Amino acid sequence: MSQDEYQYHPETRAVRIRSERTDNMEHSSPMYITSSFTYPDAERMRATFADETDDYIYSRFSNPNVDEVIDKVAMLEGAPAGYATASGMSTIWASFMALLSAGDHLLACRAIFGSTHTLITKYLPKYGIQYDYFDINDPTSIEALIKPNTKMIFVETPSNPGLDVIDLEWLGKLARSHNVILNVDNCFATPILQRPLALGAHLVTTSATKWMDGQGRVLGGVVVGEPDLIKQIYTFCRSTGPSLSPFNAWVLSKSLETLPVRMARHSESALKLATALEGNPHLVWVKYPFLPSHPQYAIAKKQMSGGGGVFCFELKGGVEQGRRFLDSLQLLSLTANLGDSRSIASHPSSTTHAKLTEEERLLAGITPGLIRISTGLEYPDDILHDIVQALDKSK
Ligand SMILES: *Cc1c(COP(=O)(O)O)cnc(C)c1O
Repeated sequence: MSQDEYQYHPETRAVRIRSERTDNMEHSSPMYITSSFTYPDAERMRATFADETDDYIYSRFSNPNVDEVIDKVAMLEGAPAGYATASGMSTIWASFMALLSAGDHLLACRAIFGSTHTLITKYLPKYGIQYDYFDINDPTSIEALIKPNTKMIFVETPSNPGLDVIDLEWLGKLARSHNVILNVDNCFATPILQRPLALGAHLVTTSATKWMDGQGRVLGGVVVGEPDLIKQIYTFCRSTGPSLSPFNAWVLSKSLETLPVRMARHSESALKLATALEGNPHLVWVKYPFLPSHPQYAIAKKQMSGGGGVFCFELKGGVEQGRRFLDSLQLLSLTANLGDSRSIASHPSSTTHAKLTEEERLLAGITPGLIRISTGLEYPDDILHDIVQALDKSK
């Protein structure tokens, strides 16, 4: 095989994909902090506005740094097209607003990221878009919920914070047999561990703020998938303006160079910690997609190449015990984010999901003593030591 035909591995391409080198021959991509782009003459400008060239026009539409991020994520996901926006939420919102119309119906999993729940229940109805939730743990109930006007199925797997998993290959077949768009939030797995398009999804939306940046610095969101769908999302974003800043894109592109290495380490450490904590006398249970005790362990093993960086457990003693546990930690950070090099502990029932009723929380899989751990890149035994000492101290 000649060098021209030889296809580099995704890990190599995540490092090497870059915007075109300038005459300065810089090694690292420059930052294109510019709102607009210029033309040598009126004819070139006319042709560009007539879509006859690929020249840049305005950073609300596209920008070389943003394109670099899109190219990397599309490559990693195995997607023919993509678009990036300012945050995971603007990406998800754009995928709804560009593809759903008044009278359409969206079917989504009930255990879903909090702000996505707000979009679905508070804002979609304002535009005449109906919705129903399904239980990810009861997949056989989904088909009966598909209506003639169902246009999209939206699912998170593994879900946040419950880490429930659904069989994407099966769901992809179901969606296609009903001519429904399958839109997968791949935030927890990232394309390093799970590639939903290869399993039958039409679209993948990801908050780049989490594992993709992986160091708690910038917000961003990326959607990839079928070109005709991406074109509609691009057209919506081009006019509504949730543009990813070139600075954030530059940071994210650098982060994507190390994503494969980081996800391997995050997954390895999370499995080690979840395994060590299973059976701890202060815990009711430990949940992690790659623990054999996980209800969908077989599905997780089939469609993911690693369990990801998040695991959770239920403390004996409920809500008050959750707060005491957080107060007893010395190393782990108490913060709303996840997917950082620094390990993070959170207690959804007293924070992110405190506004829900007890019944709504339980429906979303949020039990009173649920603690979610986002495993960072610290030495794994140090993370474990902090969790164990906090469990012992707060009992
Ligand atoms: C954080 C998150 C989002 C939203 O992303 P932002 O970048 O914060 O807007 C969406 N889905 C999941 C699963 C998330 O964890």
